[in-house]
Amino acid sequence: MKVSLLVLVVSLAGAKEPATHQPPSVRIRLLEKHSPRHLDCSTVSGAALLVQGGSGKDLKLKRVSFDCRRSDEVCLASRGREICRRYFRLRTERSGDGIVVATGSLSRRTYDGLLEIAPTGGHCRLVNELPVDDYAEAVACAEMKGAPRQALLAQVVAARSYALASAGKHPGSGYDFCDLTHCQHYLGSGACSPATRQGLRQVRGLVLTYQQRPAETVYFSTCAGHTASARDIWGKRADRIYLRGSPDGDGPNCQDSPHLSWRLEVDAGRLCALLRRQYPQLDKPVSGDCRVEVERLGAGGWVRTVLVTGGTRLHLSGEQFHLLLGRVLGWGRFKSARFTIERQGRVYVFRGRGLGHGVGMCQYGAMGMARRGFDYRRILRHYHPHTSLEKLW
Ligand SMILES: [Zn+2]
Ligand SMILES: [Zn+2]
Repeated sequence: MKVSLLVLVVSLAGAKEPATHQPPSVRIRLLEKHSPRHLDCSTVSGAALLVQGGSGKDLKLKRVSFDCRRSDEVCLASRGREICRRYFRLRTERSGDGIVVATGSLSRRTYDGLLEIAPTGGHCRLVNELPVDDYAEAVACAEMKGAPRQALLAQVVAARSYALASAGKHPGSGYDFCDLTHCQHYLGSGACSPATRQGLRQVRGLVLTYQQRPAETVYFSTCAGHTASARDIWGKRADRIYLRGSPDGDGPNCQDSPHLSWRLEVDAGRLCALLRRQYPQLDKPVSGDCRVEVERLGAGGWVRTVLVTGGTRLHLSGEQFHLLLGRVLGWGRFKSARFTIERQGRVYVFRGRGLGHGVGMCQYGAMGMARRGFDYRRILRHYHPHTSLEKLW
């Protein structure tokens, strides 16, 4: 973050008038999983890119390629010339334009703001710096493609508040967030159509706060009728008054989700093998299969702890169990920490409800509320009670 958020928020706390501050900037690491070695860059409008590398003045180029295979330099190629520097910084000559980035393996993406390109281990380290408002709008479009307008507005406010509350999720890295769901799903400004983008401007600067600080407005796909409490999912330290589980409407609000219920059978031997790989203490002594059962339930039937017995007794949180099995068996198969376990002969049968960690805003629920006429303020209040909606700039 470019601006100390605490100072920003505290300085506004006593003022009733909307502030005139500029939105702080955030730095996002892009495409790390793709490890691009080459990039082709241009602009949306076809106007020039301003390219700055080390010292010296900006180069004005309409198209430019970068090669990051050297260990300590990035090499720029444009119209037959090559220039190598420790890093390059790109921005568009025209305001409101976007930087188009193409790599071999990936479709083109468009980014607002500034793009930094540096070498790292034979590929390009890309960091996008942009105002948090532009970031939140792009996140909302990536997260809730095609959602009704009021749900999208709620998602923008949630994405912005979360970004302000959780800057530094990658400490010591030189950036605030990655572009994956570990932080927030970010595909660049191209994720929004120009018309959608225009419509999202009405909530610029609006932030959900709790006790004058940005609230940690987490969200997930589907609760299937009841959201989870942060303390059941992530432990005592994560407890927040606005992150306590509650019923999600009568219908429920997320009744149109394809993830209301799921079922997965896992061979008992396979399940125990993968648990033993992760927790070697289960190995002593090996006496056939381990036993896996739900030990404690939290709010709404979200699993608080799973007891694994196999030589020793292991208490895993329901979310740890979900993350482990989701990673190995697929996030689209083991979908949430809201499940029951039944042993049937050689298999464990998991019957579950919902998708995601269950804490905060249920995205399918927000869409359901928007379709029934609720506006974004009402949606945010439903999922994050006790918070205030404040215009911080
Ligand atoms: Zn991250
Ligand atoms: Zn829901």
